[in-house]
Amino acid sequence: MKIITDIRCAEFSSPGHPESPGRILAALDALKSQDTLPLAWAEPLPVEDASLFLAHSPEHLQRLDIPFDLDADTPAYPQIAEHARRAVGGALQALQSARAGEMSFSLMRPPGHHATRDRAMGFCYLNSIAIAALAARAAGFQRVAVLDFDVHHGNGTEDILLDKPGCAFFSIHQHPCYPGTGLADRGWNCFNFPVPPGAPRLEYRAILEKALARLKAYQPGLVAVSAGFDAFSNDPLAEGSLEAEDFHWLGDSVRRLAVPALSILEGGYSDELPQLILAYLSGLAG
Ligand SMILES: [Zn+2]
Repeated sequence: MKIITDIRCAEFSSPGHPESPGRILAALDALKSQDTLPLAWAEPLPVEDASLFLAHSPEHLQRLDIPFDLDADTPAYPQIAEHARRAVGGALQALQSARAGEMSFSLMRPPGHHATRDRAMGFCYLNSIAIAALAARAAGFQRVAVLDFDVHHGNGTEDILLDKPGCAFFSIHQHPCYPGTGLADRGWNCFNFPVPPGAPRLEYRAILEKALARLKAYQPGLVAVSAGFDAFSNDPLAEGSLEAEDFHWLGDSVRRLAVPALSILEGGYSDELPQLILAYLSGLAG
């Protein structure tokens, strides 16, 4: 298991914002102080503009350099374009590991799955998972699936991958919830699995199973996972009901697909985030 990170991703913050450096720092502490899961470490790859343009418009990149908040949730931190670019580099390093047959997890921030082709929103600036999926296509994978189990709908990933040849998107998320999308399937390749707020754990698990079965039927050659941990029962941002063992099960399910896979951190705002990540990684590692 390879963990991809760069400590500079903890260098930006805004008082009271849930998407905080502490998320990464606490997870790093937990990963470094455990000895049950053998880990290798790597840094994000450098990212060319051409990779970003797979998913985003040139105007969007220019907008990230303008020092005005992108929306109420998405501050214009100093150097945010560079920080977001490093998070993309984490996903691309994870893709490189997947191609080499190695499981990996990119432990970086900011997250990316709400960023659309033209817009930063919901703590997200550049859509790392969509870029990794499109880069995988460019590298020769015939069918790439994105699995998004963050409790929020990956509207940005859907916006970018909608009707793109060789890509399919499978999102399980609470609805109604931010950003309000993801109630129905879109195009031929975006499959949405909404979960009612406060749905019992077994119901949530059954919907996850349905999504995984649909993903499997697509027969992807590579699976890219938007791993958000905010569907956890104790997360302050939503009303999910999953427990640590469900994230272990998710990791195990991804491993059992028996195709190259990569995972990147999206959301997850509870104090238990490090344990949830560890549970997922142990499932992935088998
Ligand atoms: Zn989320």
